[in-house]
This record gives sequence, C-alpha cells and structure tokens, in this order.
Amino acid sequence: MPGSLLSAKLVKTEQLSANTLQLSFELVQDERASFNFIAGQFVQLQFEIDGELHKRSYSIANSPDDFKATGQLQVALSLVSGGIASELFQKASPGTELNIAGPFGVLTLPETFPGQLILVGTGTGIAPYRSMIPQLKTLSDKGTAVTVLKGFRYREESIYSEDFTQLPNLKYRTCLSRESTVNTANYEYAGHVQDQFDALYLNPENDVVYLCGNPSMIDDCVILLRDRGLSPRQIKREKYVYSGH
Ligand SMILES: Cc1cc2nc3c(=O)[nH]c(=O)nc-3n(C[C@H](O)[C@H](O)[C@H](O)COP(=O)(O)OP(=O)(O)OC[C@H]3O[C@@H](n4cnc5c(N)ncnc54)[C@H](O)[C@@H]3O)c2cc1C
Repeated sequence: MPGSLLSAKLVKTEQLSANTLQLSFELVQDERASFNFIAGQFVQLQFEIDGELHKRSYSIANSPDDFKATGQLQVALSLVSGGIASELFQKASPGTELNIAGPFGVLTLPETFPGQLILVGTGTGIAPYRSMIPQLKTLSDKGTAVTVLKGFRYREESIYSEDFTQLPNLKYRTCLSRESTVNTANYEYAGHVQDQFDALYLNPENDVVYLCGNPSMIDDCVILLRDRGLSPRQIKREKYVYSGH
C-alpha cells in the first residue's frame, strides 16, 4: 500500500564510487509481502538521531523482481559533506534498524511508447533507471528506441555502467563535464547531458524524456526540451531536492 511505514534493517553497504554508497535494506519478514513498488519509485528512510526524527528520500535502485527474489531494497546515496544521512550511513553497521515509508513517485514507465524514450540522470539520479532495466529490455526488444544519458563531473564518479552496457539494443552515454579527454569506445562523451539532445534528433510529436537528479540540471533540460517543441506531458521529472524534510 503506498505510504506504508515498514520496519527495516541495513544489511549491506557497498562503495560504488568515492562519494557514493549503495545501501541494501531488508524488510521485516512478515511486512515484505505487503510492499510492492513500480520501477522508478522512491522510498523515504526514517531514522532517529538523539531523539530527533529525520526523513530522507531515495530512489529504489533495484528492480521489483530483484526485490522479490532477494527481499532486499537497494538505494544509491551520494555523500554530502556534513549531511545527516550521509554521516549516519557512512558509519552505520549491518543490523542498523530504521523505518521505510513508501513507495512514492510517478517516474514510472508505461508499457509502450509511440516514439523514442530518453532517460536522463545525473549522479545517483541514474538509480531509478537501473530499477527499470528489465522493463527497458522488454521495451527495446520490442523496438522502442531507448537512450540512457548519465551525467557526472569525473569518470571515477560514474556508477552502474555495466548494468546498462549489457543491454545490446539500448543506446547509452556517460557525459563527463569536467574531464579533459573522453573515450567514446567506453561510451564517454564530453560535456553535460543536455549537450546530447541535438544528436538524438528529438521528435516533438511523440518522444518522451525522463529527467532525474540535480534540480538545476532538470530546469536547464526542461527549457531546452520546451524550446525543441516537447510538451509538458512528454517530460517526466524527479528532482532530488535536499531541504525541508
Ligand atoms: C524524491 C527524492 C529522491 C531522492 N533520491 C535520492 C537518491 O536516490 N540518492 C541520493 O543520494 N539522494 C537522493 N535524494 C536526496 C536525499 O533525499 C538527501 O537530500 C541527500 O542524501 C542529502 O541528505 P543528507 O541528510 O546527507 O544531507 P542534509 O543533512 O539534508 O544536508 C546537509 C547540507 O548539505 C548540503 N546538501 C545536501 N544535499 C546536497 C546535494 N545533493 N548537493 C549539494 N549540497 C547538498 C546542503 O547545504 C544541506 O543543507 C532524493 C531526494 C528526493 C526529494
């Protein structure tokens, strides 16, 4: 049920890059069956520090099928200096208990698309698309042109590359805004994600663009996409805003 509050515990922390952690949470056994999510949704982690309740939202990074098979929910957390959740999860040991609310969000896929599907994510904003991989595979196998554009400053910040490069029918690009050289054989392109829009020959009649992550990137992309004739219903977004929880 959307908005349920479930008891969970941290079971694993993995370092995806110098500033990104992947956290795996297990739901309490008898609550697992009642938790259903659609790829692209997010959860809210709720935890107390010194008696104060904190709530932070994170996109689910694994697919619903993977959750059913393992009982674990994965999220990718981009560490921010002095951040409350960032500091907690850098130190948290397996077994740490917390509550998870959700699932929330509408950054989800329909079964068919009339045109191209372009998925744009900066930093951990790529996580919801990783959750969608089984659906993306089905869509691209049925002929939908799917492009994933990932944006990072530096090569070593990039995460989840191998998850996307294994999908043969999907076009995949990592845009590196601060590297002086790039290797296109390794799917790398210089600049920002939005610099790739021209190369996609967007059709304003029926292409759909998903945007996830940094709020300024999303605002910049929306302006460019509207200039190219895409209507609001062709642009879906999830902004990782970080205040006011
Ligand atoms: C719908 C939604 C989904 C989200 N999904 C994800 C996700 O999948 N992965 C993820 O890593 N984050 C995600 N976020 C952001 C996440 O919820 C937290 O805001 C983030 O992890 C920072 O939490 P914190 O407690 O470590 O920092 P806080 O204690 O909240 O922040 C401390 C200070 O750090 C600075 N700060 C915080 N975040 C940033 C930032 N991103 N960039 C620059 N400065 C910052 C600010 O100055 C802030 O005052 C999502 C947010 C939303 C709304």
